[in-house]
Amino acid sequence: MSERVSIYDSGSIDRLRAEMKFEPRRLRALRTVYFKKFLGVEAALAELPENVRQEFARRVEFHSLAMESAFDSEVDGATKLVLRTAAGLLIESVLMRTGTGRVSLCVSSQVGCAAACSFCATGQMGIARNLSAAEILDQVLLAGERLAAEKRLVRNIVFMGMGEPFHNEETLYDAVAALQAPGLFHYPPRRILISTVGIPDAMVRCARRFPQVNLALSLHSVRPSVREQLIPLAAKYSLDELRAAVAAVNQIQQNTVMIEYLMLAGLNDSADDARELAAWLTDLDVHVNLIPYNPIDSAPHLRTTDRPERDAFAEILRSAGFVTTIRYSLGADIAAACGQLVQSENRQIARQLAAAPSP
Ligand code: SAH
Repeated sequence: MSERVSIYDSGSIDRLRAEMKFEPRRLRALRTVYFKKFLGVEAALAELPENVRQEFARRVEFHSLAMESAFDSEVDGATKLVLRTAAGLLIESVLMRTGTGRVSLCVSSQVGCAAACSFCATGQMGIARNLSAAEILDQVLLAGERLAAEKRLVRNIVFMGMGEPFHNEETLYDAVAALQAPGLFHYPPRRILISTVGIPDAMVRCARRFPQVNLALSLHSVRPSVREQLIPLAAKYSLDELRAAVAAVNQIQQNTVMIEYLMLAGLNDSADDARELAAWLTDLDVHVNLIPYNPIDSAPHLRTTDRPERDAFAEILRSAGFVTTIRYSLGADIAAACGQLVQSENRQIARQLAAAPSP
């Protein structure tokens, strides 16, 4: 029996259509219903001639993830989706509905993460597996279907879920290309944001390949020792290299780069830290997003900066001429806020997978 073809693999789906001999416009209609209106598999299949529907459904894999569970926040507009890969690992995506009615979707690029940031639950998971492009895209699809039921559409897609997007670079690019493709999601690149722990070459490559896609750099400190303490991976790339990468991205793109800065009491939040940050950012086209720390179990020693200090920090940056915003975290009650995405169950599943004899 032949393997099933992923619905996200346009070339193979086009060949399947030719083989099954139905009109191209029928496939276009199916894709519109599936990828642009998010109306689900049945509605999509209904666009095909009746005599080919069953065979198409049999030969095509519509979902590469299964919806394991969904949690709606009781305090704000966040929904956490827990999704299972075919290998049995769990990943999370978060829907964030803001007061203005706009919806952002936070997607994962990996199961776990090798960056091992001390403040991030995913980094503490201890495993790192790449997701496939279909698995990245299926998060958008499943979230989109859930929103379609509310007659809403995802406005922004942010790669701020589990994983370091640039550790899965080529797959990330395949997924971004599919998001933009007119025949698939036809999603505006300006509404996509990729957040990275800071891999200089990859940032520049990404900007070249997708000049309209937004980039965010998780900077968190401009003191090497502090940054390395927070982000072990930071030891690999100097702050000078990172700064040069942001400058290069600025040359390539019109977009402003987002600088993410986690606020940690006593670690990176003094007035001196703010002044050093402003100096580091001089002449870069950036805006600064200050992120309150969301506590995680494995980092009980960390505490977020109190509001007066945070406002003072923001004020120093603003007086230096930088647009500075404070991230409003959604989904803290369902462990869906930044850095809280983790499935400890994965460690056990990963061990079982590693122990299992290969088929
Ligand atoms: N690996 C990417 C994207 C995932 S994390 C990156 O590092 O940017 C998305 C953002 O959430 C990053 O800025 C990250 O530093 C931040 N974050 C991680 N853990 C957090 C926590 N416990 N509280 C607040 N923000 C956190």
